[in-house]
Amino acid sequence: MEKQDLVVIGAGTAGAVAAAEAAKKGLKVCLVDVKAKGLIGQKVCGDAIAKHHFDNLNMKYPSGDEFEHEMVGIHVISPNRETSLSIRGEGVTGFVINRHRFGQRLVKEALDAGATLLDETRVIGPLIRDGCVAGIEAEQGDKGKVEIDASITVDAGGYSGVIRSKLPHAFGIEPTIKSEDMIVAYREIRSDVEWSSDLGEICLSQQSAPGGYYWIFDKGNGKVNVGLGIQMAGSHPNPKEQLYKHVLSQTPFKGSRMREGGGGIVPTRRPIDSLVSNGVMFVGDAACLVNPIHGGGIGPSMLSGKLAVETALEALEKGDASRGGLWQYNVKYMQSYGAKQASLDIFRLLLQVISDDDLNFSMKNRLVREEDVLWTSLMGDLRLSTKDKVERVLKGAGRPGLLMKMEKTASKMRKIKALYQTYPSLHEFDAWKQKVASIYKS
Ligand SMILES: Cc1cc2nc3c(=O)[nH]c(=O)nc-3n(C[C@H](O)[C@H](O)[C@H](O)COP(=O)(O)OP(=O)(O)OC[C@H]3O[C@@H](n4cnc5c(N)ncnc54)[C@H](O)[C@@H]3O)c2cc1C
Repeated sequence: MEKQDLVVIGAGTAGAVAAAEAAKKGLKVCLVDVKAKGLIGQKVCGDAIAKHHFDNLNMKYPSGDEFEHEMVGIHVISPNRETSLSIRGEGVTGFVINRHRFGQRLVKEALDAGATLLDETRVIGPLIRDGCVAGIEAEQGDKGKVEIDASITVDAGGYSGVIRSKLPHAFGIEPTIKSEDMIVAYREIRSDVEWSSDLGEICLSQQSAPGGYYWIFDKGNGKVNVGLGIQMAGSHPNPKEQLYKHVLSQTPFKGSRMREGGGGIVPTRRPIDSLVSNGVMFVGDAACLVNPIHGGGIGPSMLSGKLAVETALEALEKGDASRGGLWQYNVKYMQSYGAKQASLDIFRLLLQVISDDDLNFSMKNRLVREEDVLWTSLMGDLRLSTKDKVERVLKGAGRPGLLMKMEKTASKMRKIKALYQTYPSLHEFDAWKQKVASIYKS
């Protein structure tokens, strides 16, 4: 194959959007996926996506067979299931989609715009020449190995980081993601469930889903997407066993039938420190661009694909695909979504250690209210509109430790958000990384 402007690894939501954007701008782009074309988009997922992502990206809302149900908010249930918060509003309104059909739409858009697809092709690693990623090496089943040269390589291959993990140290990219920063989940699509709700249900519980949560999202006509995710820390329990024991044993699932089942992994941390290096850009899960609180990664992955291509175009025009030439993508992403994501990552670390007892208590006494949860998830600031009450009740109930943890978390969230909002130049990057690390250690 002739040299490409862009080779994109992975035709998931990040890669397909990147390829479509690039092809629309007239770039020569090759999209590579290990899956057969017709299977692209099939992924174990909660299938929920907020409407605002489509508005921000100027994309058509899911319709026809892509659309399954509308969601007008989230119902957060306390671990003992005695209290709940119903969070509604702009930021949490969205769709439950048919993930396969949606993925097929995105790939079609990329191909219609002029991208080439190499399906059933597994990328093995980067081609490196003169200290720069110069394309990819891949395997095509019986046909053997293939090399694709490209001015810029975009890694959209998901959390496993097929490029990230193989770059020499000098590229300055974190090669691995700590397992405790990932969630392992098991999910089923079930039919004949006694369930009808336009609110997605989420239950945080250390007992059933340590460091994660379980969810039930209505797909319409008695069909639901139900799953449970657990932090991959230590010898964690099996999410499938936990789902069967704690969720599918509940009354609405009696007599229901499994249509699909499977597991998946979600990186739930702040973005990798730099999303670029010489000749290479990282988008979507490959760059850890998932909302750390609810695990929503479809929206940010598409946003990253679009922003990466904006910078790639400028870099190609200037003939500079070096780390410095691609740096602006870091700045754009961190300012538009990364700062909020990093702040929510600090909040995630609190939620992963908070006990069920403390959570039951806080929700029962309305120390956290609907508007606070909405504000925190939209803005990335831990806001307690009833701060005086929180202090009074927690002190009165002999839980000053929880109050201290909440205050410390709120302060760290503000600091980290400010750091990401003022993402540094390449020259100041090492000093910035040290500041980020010191906030995490404090
Ligand atoms: C259980 C679960 C539930 C989730 N629920 C939601 C939800 O409700 N809402 C939401 O917004 N997000 C959810 N997410 C997260 C969301 O699915 C991801 O963040 C999003 O799909 C990331 O898109 P991506 O394009 O970066 O990666 P992916 O969608 O994973 O796409 C990666 C692509 O790369 C291909 N690939 C991988 N390795 C190679 C290789 N070596 N060579 C060639 N091709 C390769 C794969 O076949 C795939 O097509 C969930 C994730 C999981 C696991």
